[in-house]
Amino acid sequence: MDIDNLSDRILDGDRRALARAITLVESGRADHRAQAGELLARLANSGRQALRIGLSGTPGVGKSTFIESFGMMLIGQGLRVAVLAVDPSSARSGGSILGDKTRMERLSRERAAFIRPSPSQSHLGGVARRTREAIALCEAAGFDVVLIETVGVGQSETVVSEMSDLFLLLLAPAGGDELQGVKRGIMEMADMILVNKADGDLKATATRTCADYAGALRLLRKRPQDPEGFPKAMTVSAVEEHGLEQAWVEMQALSQWRRETGQWAANRSDQACFWFDQEVRHALLARLETPEAKAEMASLNAKVAQGVLSPAAAAQQMLSHLV
Ligand code: GDP
Repeated sequence: MDIDNLSDRILDGDRRALARAITLVESGRADHRAQAGELLARLANSGRQALRIGLSGTPGVGKSTFIESFGMMLIGQGLRVAVLAVDPSSARSGGSILGDKTRMERLSRERAAFIRPSPSQSHLGGVARRTREAIALCEAAGFDVVLIETVGVGQSETVVSEMSDLFLLLLAPAGGDELQGVKRGIMEMADMILVNKADGDLKATATRTCADYAGALRLLRKRPQDPEGFPKAMTVSAVEEHGLEQAWVEMQALSQWRRETGQWAANRSDQACFWFDQEVRHALLARLETPEAKAEMASLNAKVAQGVLSPAAAAQQMLSHLV
């Protein structure tokens, strides 16, 4: 593959080149990894930065409807929008909730949009790396906003929030009991909670739900570094396209504030260090999975079982083989 040519076309904003490049970063083949590394290094100095927005919510809450309406609104303002997905179900079963091609039909027809479903990979670590690299490629291709969507099941929110500048939690109108269903850790990650489906019969419930969450957010945490009023809960209707512009105004205000106070850059460098640490851990664990390492583990295990070697001494011997 001609990496020079691919890199130039990505810088020109060519969506087919971008799609090919993402396929390259998704590949596990050693020669593809090397080419992907070369491509990413070449694009690293593009100087382009998108606003990376993480979006989480349980299935059925309206994520694709929201992304479509919100994305169309951004495009209407002259922005280019990329949508990526981190789908923990595809990591587990090979099947993807977020990979359905019929989602976001209007948005997918727009020249200013790029939509990429989640890859099916064996573990969340692999999906995380591919998504980070895909974000970098979308930025180099000149997209202004990169939306990273995930299904709310716990672990994947952490992954997405560690690669986002802003993190949104999309919720449905619900009674008081269901408020308890949102895990505290996930609430703590959110910069904004958007209560969707605030329309028709659901409008009054949505308004109440929003007030409940606004109260919960106030109790939960103070982020002294954030401007007054954040984290914020708002109602929206993705179907009727209500509240989307207001939500966008708030997102811009928060990101502007973070840029001016230096938090934006600090957050991105913290994230880079977080992923460095994760990559080292994953690589070390992967070394335990080789046939030689497994055989060594089994042999040391037998010695530990017989009492010939202490667990600590066996671990030392094992580690000396790994590095
Ligand atoms: P996802 O699984 O989170 O991606 O949810 P979808 O976007 O597929 O939406 C699930 C269902 O909720 C669909 O039937 C949508 O039409 C409906 N829905 C999504 N947004 C809204 C909204 O703003 N108002 C109403 N009333 N229904 C909505």
